[in-house]
Amino acid sequence: MSNQASTPFAKRLEGNVAIITGGASGIGEATVRLFWSHGAKIVIADIQDDLGEALCRELGENAMYVHCDVTDEEQVRNTVDLAVEKYGKLAIMYNNAGVVDFATTSILTIEKSNVEKVLGINLIGWILGAKHAARVMVPAKKGCILFTTSATTSISSTLFHGCVASKQGLIGIMRNIAAELGQFGIRVNSISPYGVVTNLAKSLLPHSSTEQLQAFFNKSANLKGTELKAEDIARAALYLANEDAQYVSGLNLVVDGAFSITYPSVPFV
Ligand code: NAD
Repeated sequence: MSNQASTPFAKRLEGNVAIITGGASGIGEATVRLFWSHGAKIVIADIQDDLGEALCRELGENAMYVHCDVTDEEQVRNTVDLAVEKYGKLAIMYNNAGVVDFATTSILTIEKSNVEKVLGINLIGWILGAKHAARVMVPAKKGCILFTTSATTSISSTLFHGCVASKQGLIGIMRNIAAELGQFGIRVNSISPYGVVTNLAKSLLPHSSTEQLQAFFNKSANLKGTELKAEDIARAALYLANEDAQYVSGLNLVVDGAFSITYPSVPFV
């Protein structure tokens, strides 16, 4: 076992370079902070420029912000190129930026434009992220590609059909890419969170406070006595990104306190 893996307080990503999409807020922001504290050089890729730049200023050295709409291939290509130009390499690509179509409650009223928007960001945007990360990881014969999917990939519900389609599709593409890129030493995994109070999740119950939304998630949760936070998802990403997971690829790591095996079908609200 290496020193990094055996020393609990070691900086586990020292010398690594990570792009985190959606890094200005929520799960992405928590991951930016955790990866940075573990010694990684970070590229925050988001469309919320003020938040992303403020986070970079706070972190100071070893963090840069890039405006990157993940649906725009040129911007994704540019983000990867800037990371390599500034830091010399790319070790981790965390495709995390996402949206949810909470308003979709029935296949009978589903809006084509809404589904296209969700699939464009959550599915096609992430395929573009994986494509351009692989472009620089393949010659290096090393790399880690991550996706944030959702616990909704393991259950059925009556809401957000576009988001579920995107996240289920992501698990398929994650496995395909893991199979394709294994020969180049590149690991590909995804993380499926249960409900986490973030700006995105707040639109599930728009008239509720943060505390009410957390209470809603806690009430529905299987695992009691604790609450799922963005930092918990960041820790799952840290595990998958560092050498503790050096032989883990093609895994969808469900971080839901056994919610999805307890409630395989839920109306949700
Ligand atoms: P969030 O709203 O706090 O963060 C999402 C980030 O993605 C934002 O900073 C936003 O600006 C960015 N983003 C949106 N569209 C973008 C685009 N086109 N290009 C670049 N960036 C874009 O929400 P979050 O909960 O942290 O979401 C992160 C991921 O976690 C999403 O993929 C979401 O589907 C997934 N997820 C969240 C939950 C939850 O309960 N919060 C549960 C399961 C999965």
